[in-house]
Formats: sequence, C-alpha cells, structure tokens
Amino acid sequence: MKIALIAHDKKKDAMIELAIRYRDVLSQHELCATGTTGTLVMGETGLRITRMKSGPLGGDQQIGSMIAEGNLDLVVFLRDPLTAQPHEPDVSALLRLCDVQNIPLATNVQSAKIMLECLRDGGFEK
Ligand code: PGA
Repeated sequence: MKIALIAHDKKKDAMIELAIRYRDVLSQHELCATGTTGTLVMGETGLRITRMKSGPLGGDQQIGSMIAEGNLDLVVFLRDPLTAQPHEPDVSALLRLCDVQNIPLATNVQSAKIMLECLRDGGFEK
C-alpha cells in the first residue's frame, strides 16, 4: 500500500510518536510525506520516505495530485485544528480529494491508530 504522512507543526511530535510505535507496519509499505514531516519521521525512525515539498510550499497539493491519480491508498494527516494555516485551501483540497477517491483518511492520532492496527492485522483491504 502507498501511505502518505502529513502533520501540521504542532502535531509533528505526535506523528513521530505514531511512526515509532507503528514502525513495523509502516516499514512494510511505500511511504511519502510532506517535506518537514518526512524529514523528521525519517530522522527518528530510519523509515524510507519519499518527500514532497513542504506543505505550505505545495506539498499538500502534490499529495493531492497523487490521490487524484489513484496513487495513494491511505492518508494520515495530523491536522492542527486550533491554528490558522496559510495553506488552508490546499489542506481542504487534499481532504476533499480523499473523499472523492474514497481514500481512508485519519486526521487525528486515535483514528490513525485504528487504521494502522487494522493494517497490522491484515484487515485492511484496498
Ligand atoms: P510539512 O507540511 O510537513 O512540510 O511541515 C505539513 C503541512 O503543513 O501541510
């Protein structure tokens, strides 16, 4: 499966924690991430991750385009709902495309854990 990881700045620690906890699962899949998220997660876990541009510089759009092309199977996007984002239109577009393409999308840690547990147990079908 192809999995995208994205975390807003205040959620980056949570993403790193998640990636460490589910390193075994994630390592079985093809990973991509927005720039800063990818760099941090790679540095902390050693996972191989294809990095796009940083979110505010177009990374969310790049991942959105992968979704539109049918090149992603799962998105973990830890959003910060309490901070205004300069690239909010890109964020909304990405979320919308997940719904258009019926791509599973976790926008908080608990949802991500459920999805990754499911993936670990082999209960996740494309
Ligand atoms: P970043 O982008 O991983 O480059 O910080 C995330 C975002 O804000 O969309």
